[in-house]
Amino acid sequence: MSVKASITNKGAVLLGKYVACDAFDESKPLRVVTHAHADHMMGLQQSLRTCERVLMTKATKDLIDVMRGPLFLMGGFVETLEYGKTLQYEDEHVTFFCADHILGAAQVLVEDAEGTRIVYTGDFRVSGTPFLDANVLVMEATYGSPACKRSFSKDVKDLLVSLVDEGLKHGTVYVFGYHGKLQEVMQILHGAGVRAPFVVPERVFHVSRVCEQHGMRLGRLMLSEEGEAKELLERNLPCIAFYHMGSKNKVGQGGFRIFVSGWEFDSPCREIADKEYIIALSDHSDFDGLMEYVRRSKPRLVIADNFRIGYAKTLAKEIRKRFGISAVALPKE
Ligand SMILES: [Zn+2]
Repeated sequence: MSVKASITNKGAVLLGKYVACDAFDESKPLRVVTHAHADHMMGLQQSLRTCERVLMTKATKDLIDVMRGPLFLMGGFVETLEYGKTLQYEDEHVTFFCADHILGAAQVLVEDAEGTRIVYTGDFRVSGTPFLDANVLVMEATYGSPACKRSFSKDVKDLLVSLVDEGLKHGTVYVFGYHGKLQEVMQILHGAGVRAPFVVPERVFHVSRVCEQHGMRLGRLMLSEEGEAKELLERNLPCIAFYHMGSKNKVGQGGFRIFVSGWEFDSPCREIADKEYIIALSDHSDFDGLMEYVRRSKPRLVIADNFRIGYAKTLAKEIRKRFGISAVALPKE
Protein backbone atom coordinates (compact mmCIF):
# COMPACT_ATOMS: atom_id res chain seq x y z
CA MET A 1 0.00 0.00 0.00
CA SER A 2 1.35 3.39 -0.87
CA VAL A 3 1.60 5.87 1.96
CA LYS A 4 -1.66 7.78 1.98
CA ALA A 5 -1.19 9.76 5.17
CA SER A 6 1.70 11.14 7.15
CA ILE A 7 2.69 13.82 9.66
CA THR A 8 5.59 16.11 8.80
CA ASN A 9 8.31 17.51 11.04
CA LYS A 10 6.39 20.80 11.04
CA GLY A 11 3.22 19.13 12.29
CA ALA A 12 1.27 19.03 9.02
CA VAL A 13 -1.12 16.08 8.82
CA LEU A 14 -1.06 15.00 5.18
CA LEU A 15 -4.12 13.17 3.88
CA GLY A 16 -4.25 11.77 0.34
CA LYS A 17 -2.65 13.71 -2.49
CA TYR A 18 -3.86 17.25 -1.85
CA VAL A 19 -4.65 17.97 1.80
CA ALA A 20 -2.42 19.27 4.62
CA CYS A 21 -4.14 19.79 7.97
CA ASP A 22 -3.14 21.99 10.91
CA ALA A 23 0.29 23.15 9.69
CA PHE A 24 1.79 24.50 6.50
CA ASP A 25 3.08 22.11 3.85
CA GLU A 26 4.38 23.42 0.55
CA SER A 27 3.45 20.27 -1.42
CA LYS A 28 -0.33 20.41 -0.85
CA PRO A 29 -2.77 22.82 -2.53
CA LEU A 30 -5.45 22.47 0.17
CA ARG A 31 -4.89 23.54 3.76
CA VAL A 32 -7.38 22.48 6.42
CA VAL A 33 -7.71 24.12 9.84
CA THR A 34 -9.49 21.53 12.03
CA HIS A 35 -10.08 24.03 14.85
CA ALA A 36 -9.00 27.36 16.28
CA HIS A 37 -6.41 26.23 18.86
CA ALA A 38 -2.93 27.63 18.24
CA ASP A 39 -1.21 24.25 17.81
CA HIS A 40 -3.58 23.57 14.89
CA MET A 41 -3.10 26.93 13.15
CA MET A 42 0.63 26.56 12.57
CA GLY A 43 2.03 28.27 9.51
CA LEU A 44 -1.44 29.52 8.64
CA GLN A 45 -0.12 32.81 7.30
CA GLN A 46 2.11 30.87 4.88
CA SER A 47 -0.78 28.64 3.82
CA LEU A 48 -2.93 31.70 3.17
CA ARG A 49 -0.23 33.09 0.91
CA THR A 50 0.54 29.93 -1.06
CA CYS A 51 -2.28 27.36 -0.88
CA GLU A 52 -5.05 27.34 -3.44
CA ARG A 53 -7.67 27.11 -0.72
CA VAL A 54 -7.78 27.13 3.05
CA LEU A 55 -10.70 25.11 4.40
CA MET A 56 -12.41 25.39 7.79
CA THR A 57 -15.91 25.46 9.26
CA LYS A 58 -17.73 28.78 9.49
CA ALA A 59 -17.52 28.67 13.29
CA THR A 60 -13.75 28.17 13.17
CA LYS A 61 -13.45 31.08 10.75
CA ASP A 62 -15.52 33.30 13.05
CA LEU A 63 -13.34 32.32 16.04
CA ILE A 64 -10.10 33.06 14.15
CA ASP A 65 -11.54 36.41 13.06
CA VAL A 66 -11.97 37.46 16.71
CA MET A 67 -8.79 35.84 18.01
CA ARG A 68 -6.45 37.12 15.31
CA GLY A 69 -8.40 40.09 13.95
CA PRO A 70 -10.61 40.25 10.85
CA LEU A 71 -7.72 41.03 8.50
CA PHE A 72 -5.81 37.87 9.32
CA LEU A 73 -7.75 35.49 7.05
CA MET A 74 -8.11 38.01 4.26
CA GLY A 75 -4.62 37.24 2.99
CA GLY A 76 -5.79 34.10 1.22
CA PHE A 77 -8.67 32.16 -0.27
CA VAL A 78 -10.65 30.82 2.69
CA GLU A 79 -13.52 28.48 1.93
CA THR A 80 -15.90 27.41 4.68
CA LEU A 81 -17.11 23.83 4.62
CA GLU A 82 -19.91 22.64 6.90
CA TYR A 83 -20.18 19.26 8.59
CA GLY A 84 -21.33 16.56 6.19
CA LYS A 85 -20.75 18.63 3.04
CA THR A 86 -18.23 17.24 0.54
CA LEU A 87 -15.71 19.15 -1.51
CA GLN A 88 -14.32 17.49 -4.61
CA TYR A 89 -10.79 18.36 -5.62
CA GLU A 90 -9.37 16.61 -8.68
CA ASP A 91 -9.92 12.89 -8.06
CA GLU A 92 -10.40 13.08 -4.28
CA HIS A 93 -13.20 14.10 -1.90
CA VAL A 94 -12.91 16.00 1.37
CA THR A 95 -15.68 15.92 4.01
CA PHE A 96 -15.79 17.44 7.51
CA PHE A 97 -17.54 15.78 10.44
CA CYS A 98 -18.16 17.13 13.90
CA ALA A 99 -15.51 16.69 16.58
CA ASP A 100 -16.61 17.37 20.15
CA HIS A 101 -13.77 19.67 21.25
CA ILE A 102 -14.20 23.42 20.88
CA LEU A 103 -16.79 25.20 18.81
CA GLY A 104 -16.27 24.52 15.10
CA ALA A 105 -13.88 21.59 15.51
CA ALA A 106 -13.90 19.12 12.63
CA GLN A 107 -12.72 15.62 11.79
CA VAL A 108 -11.53 15.30 8.21
CA LEU A 109 -12.34 12.46 5.82
CA VAL A 110 -10.47 12.20 2.51
CA GLU A 111 -11.65 9.56 0.02
CA ASP A 112 -9.19 8.94 -2.77
CA ALA A 113 -9.71 7.58 -6.29
CA GLU A 114 -9.22 4.01 -5.08
CA GLY A 115 -11.94 4.41 -2.48
CA THR A 116 -9.54 4.49 0.46
CA ARG A 117 -10.98 6.28 3.47
CA ILE A 118 -8.35 8.40 5.16
CA VAL A 119 -9.55 10.00 8.41
CA TYR A 120 -7.95 12.56 10.73
CA THR A 121 -9.77 12.98 14.03
CA GLY A 122 -8.19 16.31 15.00
CA ASP A 123 -8.66 16.91 18.72
CA PHE A 124 -11.79 15.29 20.09
CA ARG A 125 -13.64 13.92 23.06
CA VAL A 126 -15.54 10.71 22.39
CA SER A 127 -18.81 11.66 24.08
CA GLY A 128 -20.13 13.85 21.24
CA THR A 129 -17.95 12.74 18.33
CA PRO A 130 -19.21 10.41 15.58
CA PHE A 131 -16.90 7.43 14.89
CA LEU A 132 -15.86 7.39 11.24
CA ASP A 133 -14.97 4.16 9.42
CA ALA A 134 -11.41 4.46 8.21
CA ASN A 135 -8.82 2.48 6.29
CA VAL A 136 -6.10 4.81 7.44
CA LEU A 137 -6.70 6.69 10.71
CA VAL A 138 -4.65 9.64 11.92
CA MET A 139 -5.47 10.50 15.50
CA GLU A 140 -4.54 12.85 18.29
CA ALA A 141 -2.57 11.28 21.16
CA THR A 142 -2.86 13.84 23.97
CA TYR A 143 -3.92 11.25 26.55
CA GLY A 144 -2.46 8.28 24.69
CA SER A 145 -1.02 6.55 27.75
CA PRO A 146 -2.90 3.96 29.85
CA ALA A 147 -2.07 6.18 32.84
CA CYS A 148 -4.45 8.81 31.39
CA LYS A 149 -7.82 7.36 32.34
CA ARG A 150 -10.66 9.27 33.95
CA SER A 151 -13.25 7.38 35.89
CA PHE A 152 -15.25 10.37 37.10
CA SER A 153 -16.56 12.18 34.00
CA LYS A 154 -20.15 12.33 35.30
CA ASP A 155 -19.79 14.36 38.48
CA VAL A 156 -17.39 17.03 37.24
CA LYS A 157 -20.08 19.50 36.18
CA ASP A 158 -21.95 19.28 39.49
CA LEU A 159 -18.70 19.69 41.36
CA LEU A 160 -17.83 22.74 39.32
CA VAL A 161 -21.19 24.34 40.08
CA SER A 162 -20.94 23.72 43.83
CA LEU A 163 -17.34 24.94 43.93
CA VAL A 164 -18.37 28.18 42.21
CA ASP A 165 -21.34 28.58 44.58
CA GLU A 166 -19.00 28.10 47.51
CA GLY A 167 -16.52 30.63 46.10
CA LEU A 168 -19.23 33.25 45.56
CA LYS A 169 -19.75 33.33 49.34
CA HIS A 170 -16.23 34.80 49.60
CA GLY A 171 -16.67 37.27 46.74
CA THR A 172 -15.32 37.13 43.20
CA VAL A 173 -14.60 33.71 41.70
CA TYR A 174 -11.87 33.64 39.04
CA VAL A 175 -12.00 30.92 36.40
CA PHE A 176 -8.96 30.32 34.20
CA GLY A 177 -9.02 28.20 31.05
CA TYR A 178 -8.32 28.16 27.33
CA HIS A 179 -10.59 29.62 24.66
CA GLY A 180 -13.51 27.28 24.13
CA LYS A 181 -13.14 25.70 27.55
CA LEU A 182 -14.06 28.97 29.29
CA GLN A 183 -17.23 29.15 27.24
CA GLU A 184 -18.05 25.56 28.12
CA VAL A 185 -17.77 26.51 31.79
CA MET A 186 -20.06 29.52 31.22
CA GLN A 187 -22.59 27.25 29.54
CA ILE A 188 -22.49 24.76 32.42
CA LEU A 189 -22.91 27.49 35.07
CA HIS A 190 -25.61 29.33 33.15
CA GLY A 191 -27.45 26.04 32.50
CA ALA A 192 -27.26 25.19 36.21
CA GLY A 193 -28.95 28.46 37.11
CA VAL A 194 -25.93 30.30 38.51
CA ARG A 195 -26.98 33.93 38.18
CA ALA A 196 -23.98 35.88 39.49
CA PRO A 197 -22.68 38.29 36.83
CA PHE A 198 -20.12 36.92 34.36
CA VAL A 199 -17.19 39.31 33.91
CA VAL A 200 -14.76 38.92 31.02
CA PRO A 201 -11.90 40.79 29.32
CA GLU A 202 -12.42 41.89 25.75
CA ARG A 203 -10.90 38.90 23.91
CA VAL A 204 -12.92 36.40 25.94
CA PHE A 205 -16.00 38.55 25.33
CA HIS A 206 -15.62 38.36 21.55
CA VAL A 207 -14.91 34.61 21.55
CA SER A 208 -18.00 34.14 23.71
CA ARG A 209 -20.14 36.20 21.33
CA VAL A 210 -19.12 33.90 18.45
CA CYS A 211 -20.02 30.86 20.55
CA GLU A 212 -23.46 32.38 21.17
CA GLN A 213 -23.94 33.17 17.49
CA HIS A 214 -23.34 29.47 16.84
CA GLY A 215 -25.91 28.33 19.37
CA MET A 216 -24.23 28.15 22.78
CA ARG A 217 -26.14 29.70 25.68
CA LEU A 218 -23.80 31.56 28.00
CA GLY A 219 -25.83 34.25 29.75
CA ARG A 220 -25.11 37.94 30.00
CA LEU A 221 -21.46 39.04 29.97
CA MET A 222 -19.96 42.25 31.34
CA LEU A 223 -16.66 43.71 30.17
CA SER A 224 -14.08 43.69 32.96
CA GLU A 225 -12.75 47.14 32.06
CA GLU A 226 -16.11 48.88 32.28
CA GLY A 227 -17.98 50.62 35.11
CA GLU A 228 -19.99 48.15 37.10
CA ALA A 229 -17.83 45.11 36.35
CA LYS A 230 -14.65 46.95 37.23
CA GLU A 231 -16.14 47.86 40.57
CA LEU A 232 -17.24 44.26 41.25
CA LEU A 233 -13.66 43.11 40.75
CA GLU A 234 -12.04 45.94 42.68
CA ARG A 235 -14.29 45.41 45.68
CA ASN A 236 -14.13 41.59 45.46
CA LEU A 237 -17.92 41.37 45.19
CA PRO A 238 -19.70 38.16 44.09
CA CYS A 239 -19.28 37.67 40.36
CA ILE A 240 -17.52 35.15 38.15
CA ALA A 241 -14.53 36.44 36.21
CA PHE A 242 -13.34 34.36 33.25
CA TYR A 243 -9.76 34.78 32.08
CA HIS A 244 -7.50 33.00 29.62
CA MET A 245 -5.01 30.65 31.29
CA GLY A 246 -2.24 32.97 30.10
CA SER A 247 -3.43 35.62 32.60
CA LYS A 248 -3.17 33.44 35.69
CA ASN A 249 -0.08 35.21 37.02
CA LYS A 250 -1.55 38.66 36.45
CA VAL A 251 -5.14 38.42 37.64
CA GLY A 252 -7.03 37.58 40.80
CA GLN A 253 -4.09 36.85 43.09
CA GLY A 254 -5.23 36.05 46.59
CA GLY A 255 -8.80 35.56 45.37
CA PHE A 256 -10.87 32.41 44.97
CA ARG A 257 -9.43 30.82 41.81
CA ILE A 258 -10.42 27.83 39.73
CA PHE A 259 -8.23 26.43 36.95
CA VAL A 260 -9.92 24.27 34.36
CA SER A 261 -7.61 21.62 33.01
CA GLY A 262 -7.73 18.22 31.35
CA TRP A 263 -4.51 16.96 32.88
CA GLU A 264 -6.14 15.50 35.97
CA PHE A 265 -6.90 11.81 36.30
CA ASP A 266 -7.12 10.89 39.96
CA SER A 267 -9.85 13.22 41.11
CA PRO A 268 -12.26 15.64 39.46
CA CYS A 269 -11.34 18.48 41.81
CA ARG A 270 -8.08 19.14 43.58
CA GLU A 271 -7.12 21.91 46.00
CA ILE A 272 -3.65 23.17 45.04
CA ALA A 273 -3.35 26.10 47.45
CA ASP A 274 -5.53 28.11 49.79
CA LYS A 275 -8.71 28.95 47.79
CA GLU A 276 -7.14 27.59 44.58
CA TYR A 277 -8.53 24.56 42.79
CA ILE A 278 -8.06 22.55 39.62
CA ILE A 279 -11.22 21.18 38.05
CA ALA A 280 -10.73 18.29 35.61
CA LEU A 281 -12.83 19.33 32.65
CA SER A 282 -11.27 18.01 29.49
CA ASP A 283 -12.04 18.54 25.82
CA HIS A 284 -9.90 15.56 24.81
CA SER A 285 -10.61 11.83 25.00
CA ASP A 286 -8.84 9.93 27.71
CA PHE A 287 -6.91 6.74 26.86
CA ASP A 288 -10.02 4.56 26.87
CA GLY A 289 -11.79 7.00 24.56
CA LEU A 290 -8.95 6.90 22.03
CA MET A 291 -9.00 3.09 22.11
CA GLU A 292 -12.77 3.11 21.67
CA TYR A 293 -12.42 5.24 18.55
CA VAL A 294 -9.90 2.81 17.02
CA ARG A 295 -12.13 -0.15 17.82
CA ARG A 296 -15.16 1.43 16.15
CA SER A 297 -13.26 2.90 13.20
CA LYS A 298 -11.64 -0.44 12.19
CA PRO A 299 -8.58 0.97 10.40
CA ARG A 300 -5.75 -1.17 8.96
CA LEU A 301 -3.21 1.52 9.84
CA VAL A 302 -3.17 4.12 12.62
CA ILE A 303 -0.87 7.13 12.69
CA ALA A 304 -0.64 8.80 16.12
CA ASP A 305 0.21 12.50 16.22
CA ASN A 306 3.69 12.70 17.70
CA PHE A 307 4.10 16.40 16.92
CA ARG A 308 1.65 17.85 19.42
CA ILE A 309 1.75 17.28 23.19
CA GLY A 310 0.85 13.76 24.25
CA TYR A 311 1.87 10.10 24.23
CA ALA A 312 1.93 9.12 20.55
CA LYS A 313 4.55 6.37 20.82
CA THR A 314 2.82 4.74 23.75
CA LEU A 315 -0.53 4.99 22.00
CA ALA A 316 0.84 3.36 18.83
CA LYS A 317 2.33 0.54 20.88
CA GLU A 318 -0.92 -0.04 22.77
CA ILE A 319 -2.90 -0.10 19.51
CA ARG A 320 -0.53 -2.67 17.96
CA LYS A 321 -0.76 -4.79 21.07
CA ARG A 322 -4.49 -4.59 21.55
CA PHE A 323 -5.78 -4.67 17.97
CA GLY A 324 -2.92 -6.39 16.10
CA ILE A 325 -2.92 -3.71 13.40
CA SER A 326 -0.14 -1.42 12.17
CA ALA A 327 0.30 1.72 14.20
CA VAL A 328 3.08 4.30 14.13
CA ALA A 329 3.88 7.60 15.82
CA LEU A 330 4.80 10.39 13.39
CA PRO A 331 6.88 12.41 12.96
CA LYS A 332 9.65 10.20 14.27
CA GLU A 333 11.88 12.11 16.68
ZN1 LIG B 1 -7.46 21.62 20.44
